Amino acid sequence: MSTIITAKEVEEIIARGGDVKNLPADALLTPSAKDAIRDFANRRAASGAAGTSVPPGQALSSKSSKAELEAYFNSAAALALKEQLCDIGRRLWQREYVDGNGGNIAIRAGADIALCTPTLVSKGFMKPEDMCLVDFEGNQLAGTKRRTSEILMHLQIMKQQPKAVATCHCHPPYSTGFAVAGVLPPTCMIPEFEVFASVAIAPYRTPGTPEMGKLVADLVDKHNTILMANHGVVSWSHNNVEDAYFKMEILEAYCRTILVTAQVGKPAKTMTATQLQDLLKIKHSLGIPDPRHGLKECELCDNDEWRPGVQSAVPAKPDATIGYDAEAEAAVKAITDQILAQMK
Ligand SMILES: [Zn+2]
Repeated sequence: MSTIITAKEVEEIIARGGDVKNLPADALLTPSAKDAIRDFANRRAASGAAGTSVPPGQALSSKSSKAELEAYFNSAAALALKEQLCDIGRRLWQREYVDGNGGNIAIRAGADIALCTPTLVSKGFMKPEDMCLVDFEGNQLAGTKRRTSEILMHLQIMKQQPKAVATCHCHPPYSTGFAVAGVLPPTCMIPEFEVFASVAIAPYRTPGTPEMGKLVADLVDKHNTILMANHGVVSWSHNNVEDAYFKMEILEAYCRTILVTAQVGKPAKTMTATQLQDLLKIKHSLGIPDPRHGLKECELCDNDEWRPGVQSAVPAKPDATIGYDAEAEAAVKAITDQILAQMK
């Protein structure tokens, strides 16, 4: 059996001065163990850059000098984040969550600056040197390729939600299907969805416009995954960019599963309000927002407008039968009325 390595064990190895590269080849890393390794790599990259007197990313702002911004943009710390953007872009493309040059990703890199993906490049084939540095108004500060045309939405999320360290936007087909129908996925069916995602729908506006960004930003106080009507999905994370991407995997798998459930032909079984309440406690402890935090149990599981199985449970209307004839119907009614009148 494979050894499971937790974040605590990774931290102990690092504290002992050991090398996480020496873990057994078949070791299974928990998601937080992977985060711990990545954080360590980032810290090491940042300290490697300190020798070039580059200020740490978080101290930078749009007011920093051009030389400071350029130095940061070319530092090992920024390179580590650019590589993360490329990695997540590749995963979005491999899972068919993006099409053409669609989708975009951003990482907060200072008080009011962010690293982001370029426009007109497939997310599956980006290189670190394609990445861009922008201020929170969308002005490009560094990078040779032009920043994504949808950056304003990412920046408006970061402005509105100070905890958002990274954002991810793509067009995953099953989730986007719900966004096109204007339907929120029903709740109380699968634990991962309840714990990690808090979904809302923003109305349609032209992609890339400040109006679109505002409608999304208005929702990010209490939601971390926003369906964009007739367009796609955008998510944010208080942890890192991979966590923002995980919201996409969780939402997309969920939407796909409940559409399969709808085809099984039986009404879906749902968890009880008490069971959901337990999941919401975990969600709260993880620092993940949800408008249902603090609601009473009786308010939790009965307010969805659509559920798998609902459509197939509705009996066919009698007037939908083949061969319906208005004239014959009127004649039958006239005769019935006559008979009823004679019986009085
Ligand atoms: Zn888009």
